[in-house]
Amino acid sequence: MDGFPPLAPKAVIATHNAGKLAEMRDLLEPHGVALVSAGELGLPEPAETGHMFSQNAAIKAHAAAQASGLPAIADDSGLCVDALFGAPGLFTADWALDAQGQGPRDWTRAMSRVEAELRKRGATAPDQRRGQFVSAIVVAWPDGTEALFEAAVPGTLVWPPRGEAGFGYDPMFVPNGETRTFAELTRAEKHRFSHRARALAKLTAALFG
Ligand code: IMP
Repeated sequence: MDGFPPLAPKAVIATHNAGKLAEMRDLLEPHGVALVSAGELGLPEPAETGHMFSQNAAIKAHAAAQASGLPAIADDSGLCVDALFGAPGLFTADWALDAQGQGPRDWTRAMSRVEAELRKRGATAPDQRRGQFVSAIVVAWPDGTEALFEAAVPGTLVWPPRGEAGFGYDPMFVPNGETRTFAELTRAEKHRFSHRARALAKLTAALFG
């Protein structure tokens, strides 16, 4: 590692999302850093006011680093569907809210909305249903230092949803090179493809390589 302060012995994962947390723990804990989540520390969730995934990841990482005094790692991610001009994009989590914009988030509702928008555009053939998950991961240290790692995984949106594993939109996303949805893969199998695993591989190469 050169150029960045250390992450070890302890860092915060700046998320309240259990699915993201489990995936990030899988991939970071083997590097000898103890991880605590923003949820476990009772840190508030800052407003995500950025216009890019990377900006929102930076907002979350810096907020957690300042509040905890520890290095913080934040993922901002989403699903960008080609036929929907990149939607839901930054609003991926919001599509799970109800018509009044209220929670709790319902991922069946979110996936149904993607499907309805695709059908509205006549997108029924697989090549009309391409999209990608993207992940921007920012590490922020309490002194204000930051580092950004980004990755994406291309795939196809299928309907009906399939599989029980994972979280969010996993049951309707088949990554290129697979026939199963992310929700039909084990977590270890998902890591071979996923946007988050690829971004974290860049992080570990830069910080632990
Ligand atoms: P945010 O980054 O917390 O604003 O929310 C991103 C949203 O994108 C999550 O709540 C999920 O719905 C969705 N998402 C991000 N990564 C994945 C993934 O690996 N599988 C399924 N959904 C994901």
